[in-house]
Amino acid sequence: MDARLIHILPEQVANQIAAGEVVERPASAVKELLENALDAGARTIEVEIESGGRGAIILADDGAGMSREDAILAVRRHATSKIREAADLSAIRTLGFRGEALASIASVSHLTIKTRRAADARGYELAIESGEVESIRETAIGCGTRIEVRDLFFNTPARLKFLKTMATEQGAIADTFQRLALANHKVAFRLSADRRALYDLPRTASTLERFRQLFGDKLAAQMLPFERDREGARVYGLSSQSQISLPTSRMLFAFVNQRAVRDRMLLRALSQAYQTMVPRGRYPAAVLFVEIGAEQVDVNVHPMKTEVRFRDSGALFELVYHAIRDRMADQRIPIAIAAGEAIDLRAPTKIASIGNSIGDQLSIGAPPAITASGGAIGEPAIVAPVREPSRESRLRLVPDLPANRPAQSPLGLGYGLRARPGGSNPDNSSNRSAAVLTHPAVPDYAKLRIVGQMFAGYIALEGPDGFMLVDQHAAHERVTFEKLRAQLRDGGVQIQALLTPETIELSPARAAAVHAAIAELRAIGFVLEPFGPATMLLKAAPAVFGTESGRRLLNDMIDGLGDVSARGGESAFEDRLKQLACHGSIRVGRILEPREIQALLAELDATEFKTNCPHGRPVHINFGRGQIERMFRR
Ligand code: ADP
Ligand code: MG
Repeated sequence: MDARLIHILPEQVANQIAAGEVVERPASAVKELLENALDAGARTIEVEIESGGRGAIILADDGAGMSREDAILAVRRHATSKIREAADLSAIRTLGFRGEALASIASVSHLTIKTRRAADARGYELAIESGEVESIRETAIGCGTRIEVRDLFFNTPARLKFLKTMATEQGAIADTFQRLALANHKVAFRLSADRRALYDLPRTASTLERFRQLFGDKLAAQMLPFERDREGARVYGLSSQSQISLPTSRMLFAFVNQRAVRDRMLLRALSQAYQTMVPRGRYPAAVLFVEIGAEQVDVNVHPMKTEVRFRDSGALFELVYHAIRDRMADQRIPIAIAAGEAIDLRAPTKIASIGNSIGDQLSIGAPPAITASGGAIGEPAIVAPVREPSRESRLRLVPDLPANRPAQSPLGLGYGLRARPGGSNPDNSSNRSAAVLTHPAVPDYAKLRIVGQMFAGYIALEGPDGFMLVDQHAAHERVTFEKLRAQLRDGGVQIQALLTPETIELSPARAAAVHAAIAELRAIGFVLEPFGPATMLLKAAPAVFGTESGRRLLNDMIDGLGDVSARGGESAFEDRLKQLACHGSIRVGRILEPREIQALLAELDATEFKTNCPHGRPVHINFGRGQIERMFRR
């Protein structure tokens, strides 16, 4: 028997194991290569993939390039130019820092690196097999780096077996690409798959513009910029206005110091900020950037660097939550991008559609596509009065540099894209009027002309650009809910004593449940006293609703006792408040006097989060004038 059971793994085997952590699928290789190009200061990055990245991944950048010596070292494990000693790990400013990516990729593929620094007369081409440099020769190349990865995982069958279909892997690559493109709007990106151009994203002056390039006008027009800082941390980005929601959380993006992260705390802060504005099971869209001192965050906690650890995550949660919450409370600042002013919106951005029907999954406060004999109208309506953007917001949002859109592929990947004539892509089109892109997200309801009430449930209003229907129940529900919440903040739900206490008779089964819930009911404004085994005295009721409806409301709340108690805690309490607001609010079916309508609209305008009921349903639906005119073929 061998005396020695333990042995050191050959370096190539060790590298393959490490590769499994860093590069688990083609998209992770793409991510590492993109990060390297960004770290090298690239202004233009082109990515070409074949067969979902398994056949080939080719990435060309115009960044700093490498010397001959550095290029040889770059594929060695733990070879990095980004940190020098352990202490540097506590203040990382680059996307890479471990020196593992190229070594990992090299050990599981056929790799070619072409690179040249601006200062060097010529570049070098290195062929790397099984992690070893096989040949180096001089080559003519523009400055920057071009990395070609072929036959990824050819020598690791186990890894290969776990790959999904080509389409799925390509989708994952596109997701990675989108995230990095979103975080770096000043860099031009292109992506093509099997020689088909998928994205061509010229440099832009703002994240909103980059967002528009990636996801189209329709969604971009619904995004509100936000920003907030606090000592040592700044959060900013884009959040969707309260009237839209999406079926998936795919449009929630979070970046910490430009690094795409999946962080539970940040996602929780985002979704809590949207509570009561997006229905359960649906999601907002948001792009969140966190800028924080490098010493406040540890990025060295995950092999793929997609998770981070914050020193003070509670404070950051608060910052994100309030930044978005406050923006939602006042959404009136118009989204102002004057089309065509400085930026060329005719640039074909997203060329083919891959996994991007986001615009179509939007639920906006607008009617669904209506088909009027022969013509479909599916455009989101312009929400109420179009206002000129304030000068200030114009200054802030209008791009300050012209989009740089070379007609020919500058890095010679050979799929030179030509600008298509405007309007060829309906989703992304082009020379829309500024009006479509410039609208306040939230109307002042009371300023619109009241046309009347419809179906005893909806208030019809006329604005300069269309008409809208306000759901009277949803509107009143939000008003009462916010009143209750404000009272709670000021010390508790206000109560009003009944002149004579009312006796409430309960079935024995009910009586036990109500006894157990006396404190809970007290917290929302019902003062109850036991009066015999199955009888209670109602002595006071929530003041917002007046005392006449006290008994009815209490009975409704008692009926609902079982519904939410299972969830417990603060959210159960909020559910209880929603229930109360719901039962106490004007119902559909009630005819309203004109002055009641006026009062309701005025109250609504004075309320935060007025565009949605507390369950997240829209308060109004808008019918654009243009839409109506098109239906009449005007
Ligand atoms: P890391 O990014 O963690 O340093 P990598 O294995 O990804 O490790 O890269 C190793 C080194 O190779 C980098 O530190 C950098 O100096 C160099 N390098 C890699 N890609 C590029 C590139 N596209 N342009 C310039 N230098 C690069
Ligand atoms: Mg790297």
